[in-house]
Amino acid sequence: AEPLPRPAKPRVIVVANQKGGVGKTTTAVNIATAMALGGLNVLVVDTDPQGNASTALGVDHSPGTKGTYEVLLDRAGIIEYAQPSPHSPNLHVLPAAIDLSAAELELVNERGREHRMRDAINQYIEESGVDYVFFDCPPSLGLLTLNALVASSEILVPIQTEYYALEGVTQLMRTINRVKGNLNDDLELSTIVLTMYDARTNLSREVAEEVRRHFSAQTLATEIPRSVKIAEAPSYGLPVITYQPKSVGAVAYQAAAVEMASRGAGEPQGS
Ligand code: ADP
Ligand code: MG
Repeated sequence: AEPLPRPAKPRVIVVANQKGGVGKTTTAVNIATAMALGGLNVLVVDTDPQGNASTALGVDHSPGTKGTYEVLLDRAGIIEYAQPSPHSPNLHVLPAAIDLSAAELELVNERGREHRMRDAINQYIEESGVDYVFFDCPPSLGLLTLNALVASSEILVPIQTEYYALEGVTQLMRTINRVKGNLNDDLELSTIVLTMYDARTNLSREVAEEVRRHFSAQTLATEIPRSVKIAEAPSYGLPVITYQPKSVGAVAYQAAAVEMASRGAGEPQGS
């Protein structure tokens, strides 16, 4: 794999969109894997009780598996429970078991409930030398997603190129601004990835154009096409990047990772 540039400082990125099924998990696991195969140290924090990111990365998340729940509720260290992914030694996953669904309610009365993940990430950055952290979020804006938003400095929004796509983004922008004002000044919508793009339909093209008009700086040049291989890959416990590296979907996610890494690159070595 093509070696990718290290970021100037660790980048903590939340993959968010309150709509389900837009490609959040697929985008998180594939860009994370591409970064890791490019030689970077990567952590994926599965913040969705469904555990789809854990599944797609081939990491155990059966009931009782320790991970995100313990970090949020017991203040466990991420380094204790992050599991190496079988696909790359420098890719780690903090798994989400179904038990995490209880955390949403259990956190409500805890002190510092919005900052639990940020504290854990800051500690992990010091302990591990991680370059990229990706949070995969559930399709809701509860305390699990809020913890990820507070822990991150960047938001990556996958947008499915379909009707109403921008309405969801408007709602998300409102949430981002609320979080910025109250809990995390650093948070910026840095990246938009267009997913499930179908160049043959006018609708896909029109939505893509509209998103680019509103978010020209943030939207990656690479569009992720709709592809059967992408949809098949999770059932093998693999991201499409490793399942079918030459498929159009894998090539697109690889290009998206290259674009993201070059945007956040540090000074070239030796300068
Ligand atoms: P989210 O995490 O936002 O709910 P997922 O990443 O799980 O969305 O994607 C929803 C469904 O669509 C999954 O079954 C996934 O495999 C499939 N999928 C995602 N991206 C693509 C794509 N580019 N082409 C075809 N299927 C896709
Ligand atoms: Mg998901």
